[in-house]
Amino acid sequence: MFGSQHLAAAIRRENDYREAYMEETFGLQDYSDREPVRSRDVVCGKVVEEQSAPAKMEYDGEMLYFCSAACKQRFEEEPSRYIGQRVKAAVRPPR
Ligand SMILES: [Zn+2]
Repeated sequence: MFGSQHLAAAIRRENDYREAYMEETFGLQDYSDREPVRSRDVVCGKVVEEQSAPAKMEYDGEMLYFCSAACKQRFEEEPSRYIGQRVKAAVRPPR
């Protein structure tokens, strides 16, 4: 069984990775000091601004943001499916 500490740590690692990856992929500037914090919808992969996210929920100590209530609902129905994808996605793809 997944220990919640282990899972939270895996998500944090993925978050670190994701910031670097997004900067590289989309050419984002350093947005951390003046633009709203962006987070990825784990269901559909869309980037949402945390402050204006249409839906959000706390899961295992992490706040997750969704682009819509529908995505949040899909996550609630099967959270391990989407969290599992996040952890797997932490492996850096070859360039
Ligand atoms: Zn979504």
